[in-house]
This record gives sequence, structure tokens and C-alpha cells, in this order.
Amino acid sequence: MTYPDYEADLDYLEQFRDDGDEAVRLLEPLLAFRLSRAYRASRRLREQLRIESAGRTRDAQVYLYEGYKEKRAGFNMAANPDRIIGTRGGKTFRGSWHMAQGDAPDGVGYVYAVDLTHHGRLDWGDVHDRLRASGLHETVPNEPWHHQATTIRGPLPGPFPDGTTTEDELTPEMEERFDGLATWVFNGTTMILKRIEELAMQLEGTPPKGDNE
Ligand SMILES: [Zn+2]
Repeated sequence: MTYPDYEADLDYLEQFRDDGDEAVRLLEPLLAFRLSRAYRASRRLREQLRIESAGRTRDAQVYLYEGYKEKRAGFNMAANPDRIIGTRGGKTFRGSWHMAQGDAPDGVGYVYAVDLTHHGRLDWGDVHDRLRASGLHETVPNEPWHHQATTIRGPLPGPFPDGTTTEDELTPEMEERFDGLATWVFNGTTMILKRIEELAMQLEGTPPKGDNE
């Protein structure tokens, strides 16, 4: 779903392209909204953070994948454009989060991930703090540059164009993290309860002090 300032935000983001050929205009609305917001909120990001890769059309993904499969010189590992990432709300996401999903009015569609790069002093920890404040999250382990506002489970915590924010609410994504934590706590608690039971049984088996006297 787009929002009134979507085109204006895309125009604004164009200036932060690293080399100039990044397909900023393919960014899905929530990602464009949150990234524009992050830039507007931080002079340091404006000065030093650049958009390295917004995304690519399906045709471009096919080209990259064919080159990779045929081990052509200069081609890196690329996702199969037909690989199914997952399904949400009746919509199937394929290929790569960087591949346009055929879901926009133009028929090309939106991309759901952006790769960022920074120059000079800024470190990723500081960048991540600033981006997270606008709802942009790292979603791929060991790829500190890769950011999304949405995953297969829905929007990640953060602000929305209508002025609402999920900052204080549990999203499915967060619940998943908490589930992991709950399991860990449960296992820890079970272990402690077992130990208490053992101790209680030991105590029962031991005549209370004074009885033998
Ligand atoms: Zn990426």
C-alpha cells in the first residue's frame, strides 16, 4: 500500500544513491517511508550513509542467476528468481528480497530490502541504532548492510506513514524472538523445579532433626 508522500520520498532518497544507478524507485512504500525518515532525522546518516543497492527487476535477477549458474566471469552467487521465499496474505514472495515482486501498479513491483554502505567514521553499531529508530532492521545474519522494514511475517516494529507505530507492540517477528526466550526460561525453570523436587525428596527421606533424640 502506498501513501501520499511516497513519490516525494523516492525523489528525496535519490540523492543518497552511492553510484547513481541504484534502483531506488523500486523500494516498497514502507521501506521508502522509513528510510526517508531515518535520513531526515540524522545529519550523520545524510552525510555518510549511502544506498548501495535498492533492488532489481525480475529480468535483472534472471540475468544474474543465469550468469552465476553458468559460472560466467564476474558473476557472484545469486538467488534463483523462482525460489519461493514464503507466502503472506495470499501473496507469494519469490527469488530475493532485492527482486521486484511484480506487485506494484507498474507490473514490475516492489523490492523489500535495501543494502546500505557508509563512508568514513560512522560505524555499523551507530548506524543500526539510528536506522532501528525508524523501523529498519538487519534481517540477514552477517550482512550488517542489509535492511528490511517487512519480512514474510509482516511489518517489523517501527513507524508507519499513517502516524502510528508498533514500537511498543509485539509483532509476530518479536513474538518469535520472545518464544525462543520463553522456551529458554521454561527449560531453566523446569530444571530448577526438578532440583527442588529432588531436594524435597531428600529432605523427606531424611528424618527431621531431633526425631532420633
Ligand atoms: Zn541485501
